[in-house]
Amino acid sequence: MSVFNELERRVEARMKKYKRVIVSYSAGKDSTVLLYLAKKIADDYGIELYAVHIDEGIAGHSDVSRRIAIKVAKELGVKLLGVSLKEYFGITIDELKPKFSLPPCAACGPMRRQLINDVGLRIGAPIFTGHNVNDDVETLIINMFRGERRRFLEPTGGPGMVPRETPFIDVSEETLEKAAEELGLPYKKEPCPYAKLSMRRKIIKHEMATRPKEKVIELQKVMRMIKAFHVTKLKSPRFCKYCGSPSASSVCRVCSIMKELGMLEERIRRTRERRKKFRIEDYIITDRWIS
Ligand code: SF4
Ligand code: ZN
Repeated sequence: MSVFNELERRVEARMKKYKRVIVSYSAGKDSTVLLYLAKKIADDYGIELYAVHIDEGIAGHSDVSRRIAIKVAKELGVKLLGVSLKEYFGITIDELKPKFSLPPCAACGPMRRQLINDVGLRIGAPIFTGHNVNDDVETLIINMFRGERRRFLEPTGGPGMVPRETPFIDVSEETLEKAAEELGLPYKKEPCPYAKLSMRRKIIKHEMATRPKEKVIELQKVMRMIKAFHVTKLKSPRFCKYCGSPSASSVCRVCSIMKELGMLEERIRRTRERRKKFRIEDYIITDRWIS
């Protein structure tokens, strides 16, 4: 069986149970392969497909990603939804960086995750992401050793959270890179300029890239077992007292970030306004990027 057939089988197995699906599409190699396969399967099964691309507001990087996202979405004939952190949270990652105590990734990740979950809730569809085994192990190690048990054990499902599907979670980065090259579609090759600021992530990434993929998969299994053991001890899910998002503690990470930036009031106001209107068009730049 070719690599492509194997990847397609994984996506198909997860997708065919849904009528509507959202692909979180960054324009990187993993999500490009995922979007290509998701389109093929959506056509075969008559599934409604959306691609959601988030503009982080990182000069140079985000513009390139957006251009590629539009090009590929057009080429594949997929409906592209464009959402920006600026419109949604009132701040770009470039604006946040000088005011925030941690590397930008520590804010960008939770903001993007919460945004995409909200989009999923409004559209009423699960989120498919292209995360591979290297991403998974990297995140598990970082959260485990950050000394914050809460982060390692963050809820991954439950009330207020749309289902997350990660069909490539045990596929190596190397395999997806080969698949993306074979496809011949454009994808973003340059990493985000802020990625290098997270030293721990950089070290783990390098370590994993130098190990055989089987070893990385074994490590993932062990980490997931440890997580599963602890997760069973978690109390029932909670919701943030400021924004109502699912959260492992009384204040979600995005609200904690906004508090540090002095933007909590704005955050609460924006959340309230969105609740009142309850229309996805209010915060998704639908089709505007496709025209
Ligand atoms: Fe955001 Fe960090 Fe990823 Fe850049 S590397 S897009 S700042 S999470
Ligand atoms: Zn919150």
